[in-house]
Amino acid sequence: MGGNELSYINEAFDANWIAPLGPNVNNFEESIKTYLGNGVEVAALSSGTAALHLALILLGVSKDDEVICQSFTFAASANPIIYQGATPVFVDSEPDTWNICPKHLKLAIEDRIKKGKKPKAIIAVHLYGMPYKADALNEISKEYNIPIIEDSAEALGSTYKNKNCGTLGDISILSFNGNKIITTSGGGALVSKLPVHKEKAVFLATQARDQAPHYQHTQIGYNYRMSNISAGIGRGQMEVLDDHVNLRRRMNSFYKDLFSSIDDVTVFEEPNSDYYSNHWLSAIIVNETNGKSREGLRVYLETLNIESRPLWKPMHMQPVFSNAPFYGTNVAENLFKYGLCLPSGSNLGEHEISRIKEGILNYFQ
Ligand SMILES: *Cc1c(COP(=O)(O)O)cnc(C)c1O
Repeated sequence: MGGNELSYINEAFDANWIAPLGPNVNNFEESIKTYLGNGVEVAALSSGTAALHLALILLGVSKDDEVICQSFTFAASANPIIYQGATPVFVDSEPDTWNICPKHLKLAIEDRIKKGKKPKAIIAVHLYGMPYKADALNEISKEYNIPIIEDSAEALGSTYKNKNCGTLGDISILSFNGNKIITTSGGGALVSKLPVHKEKAVFLATQARDQAPHYQHTQIGYNYRMSNISAGIGRGQMEVLDDHVNLRRRMNSFYKDLFSSIDDVTVFEEPNSDYYSNHWLSAIIVNETNGKSREGLRVYLETLNIESRPLWKPMHMQPVFSNAPFYGTNVAENLFKYGLCLPSGSNLGEHEISRIKEGILNYFQ
């Protein structure tokens, strides 16, 4: 927490605005809008998953449609496709950004069209805060006229060619879950340049209530709006977003220094200066030679009470999606096999950092 969160929550209590709307919600939306720039509109919601679900609805995804989704991601990117009764089509990553591979994306679209169905949308993710190859993806999106849903849940504060992640897709989503770069305890947002998208998202997120003195509904609605209390936390968090990005990037520099002398490990970093990652999580690839391994390192750190985790298990390898089509090779599979997320929090102190350093150096000695 930055310090001002409680005063915004107290404002809500003083004014008795505890509802899923109110001044904090409006102010929080304004501050995200100002931060992202680029003329976007923002709808604050109860989660990033809710934002993805509404994005699919706004793009007309319904039963038996197909939606392309980056395979290497957290399940929340793909689950809302199933909520809509649609089918996910998973696409592999490319090695530079670990995000959806433009070449395999194109192959997937061509093949799905040949099989009789043009995908309704593409869900692309900036994983671990690393921007995806936006120029190449936007070109494909335009060529086939398929909109991109930008899953920027992990990438608030990242940029691609100086443009903010969260403004690169047709519809973008953010998450303010407890583990993200800033948090509202739980929350998310839908971002779009089209005011009608915001209007429609807020309408659907508040039970799709028609204009009438009584309760009337011509559409199925959802209870997805952010509460005025959560938004109070969000207002305070927006004031420390840049600090959090700097702290996460500092952790990444720490790991780059630490591993510069260890040949068997590559630290995940920006491919070139077009990319600026918030380095939400710092990740490494362990080359399994010399008897060292990803799993060996993870288990060793665990004995020192230092938590690390394998990278996301790709969606096409998940039992729950075993029937979904997949286009690609083994890029995501190898990331899962050899990759590890290291402690990356904005609140790590000098003592913890030196413990991590000692543990890692010991393992590789
Ligand atoms: C966290 C996350 C989400 C979902 O956000 P919630 O607010 O937790 O629902 C979606 N996609 C990715 C890539 C995420 O990391």
